[in-house]
Amino acid sequence: MRVLIVGAGIGGATAALSLHAAGITDVTLLESVSEIRPLGVGINVLPHAVRELTELGLGEQLAATGVATSDLTYVNRQGQKIWNEPRGIAAGYNYPQYSIHRGRLQMLLLDAVKERLGANAIRTGCRVLSSTTNGDVAELTYQRGDERITETADLIIAADGIKSAIRAEWFPDEGPPQWNGLILWRAVSRAKPFLSGKSMVMAGDREIRFVVYPIEDAAADGTQLINWVAEKDLSGADGSNFDWNKAIDRSVFAPAFAEWNYEWLDIPALIESAEAVYEYPMVDRPPLESWIRGRVVLLGDAAHPTYPVGSNGSSQAIIDTRVLAYALATMPVDQALEFYQNERLPKTRELQKLNRAMGPERVMQIARERAPEGFADIHDVVSPAELEEVAANYKRVAGFDPSILNSQPSWSAHISTAGVS
Ligand SMILES: Cc1cc2nc3c(=O)[nH]c(=O)nc-3n(C[C@H](O)[C@H](O)[C@H](O)COP(=O)(O)OP(=O)(O)OC[C@H]3O[C@@H](n4cnc5c(N)ncnc54)[C@H](O)[C@@H]3O)c2cc1C
Repeated sequence: MRVLIVGAGIGGATAALSLHAAGITDVTLLESVSEIRPLGVGINVLPHAVRELTELGLGEQLAATGVATSDLTYVNRQGQKIWNEPRGIAAGYNYPQYSIHRGRLQMLLLDAVKERLGANAIRTGCRVLSSTTNGDVAELTYQRGDERITETADLIIAADGIKSAIRAEWFPDEGPPQWNGLILWRAVSRAKPFLSGKSMVMAGDREIRFVVYPIEDAAADGTQLINWVAEKDLSGADGSNFDWNKAIDRSVFAPAFAEWNYEWLDIPALIESAEAVYEYPMVDRPPLESWIRGRVVLLGDAAHPTYPVGSNGSSQAIIDTRVLAYALATMPVDQALEFYQNERLPKTRELQKLNRAMGPERVMQIARERAPEGFADIHDVVSPAELEEVAANYKRVAGFDPSILNSQPSWSAHISTAGVS
């Protein structure tokens, strides 16, 4: 089976590895940028996605590249604790959660693609324009320099992100991603570790928020590379820039966080010490009814872009790839695509909805509404049962409830043993 994958991001690269592991080795990635660089700042790979990458043989590389997050704490603007929970192994999962630099994760995946499928499996400078299906044959047209090229395959996987050309071709009236009025400013800073040195902290509420976690273990000088995201409601400003790499002057938002210096975490100092800050609006797209057109299928952000809330963007893309590869190894192609869609579309649709309602971070908004000036004890304003229900419900929907994940059968399958041609 010949497969063309559009986009060599985290979804596309993992799709190539998942197909290869399933015995589908005639796979080519077409990427629009001419040189793939390790772009982005920190992201989180949740235990359910770490399990999939571990089954792809990448567990050691992940452990050497990221930080195994041990706990997550929500605090209000004043730095008072609302909720704290263990994460990864400490939370009872068989697999860790990793906080990791997005670009370094992408490079780790692409290095594995080159090693396993050969360097020719990745073609850069190929901007995909359109696709069609005739019977069992899919056709993909792309621009490479001055040349317009059309190639055929048995399957095309569109993993071309939130601005997917294939999705735009299918839904020409969909327009740009939808913005909720929040702007995110993202950066990394080098600073002394805070809390356990493997902790993630979310401070604030719906109107203004700061998320922070380390993405490398401490260096010899005792400092750590710390990822942070400042968020503020700027409804009425320009939310139409969807470039992940737009650098911005920190004076736009730093004054809003000037008082956020807690004894255990100095947020103004973190903002001050960042080398560069990038701006991105909080955008998503509404769920689709179908991800399949003949022999073309959407995957990752092209299929289900959600707000970057609850650490799910990369994790859900990784799981997509494993389910799709499992299905292709064990079923005829058309049936496999249906299986993949039936398994993944309802789950990601629920997640998109939940993320619009702030996901697990809803506890921060509840605390803000009930005690805007702070509290002596969080249980004076929110009951333990209410706090626990928000966290547990999100884990159930996002598919990382420890008991479900630990007992779930593996998505590993191989075409030779499954007997599908
Ligand atoms: C440069 C960049 C930086 C990012 N930084 C962050 C971050 O800091 N934090 C965060 O939470 N998320 C970030 N993201 C998004 C995050 O990577 C995704 O939400 C998640 O990993 C799902 O990945 P994906 O593979 O579906 O999409 P993406 O990671 O967006 O990958 C899509 C890939 O497709 C390529 N592509 C797009 N159009 C075409 C086309 N027409 N033809 C061929 N190739 C095409 C893109 O260049 C890209 O490599 C970033 C994405 C990008 C592209």
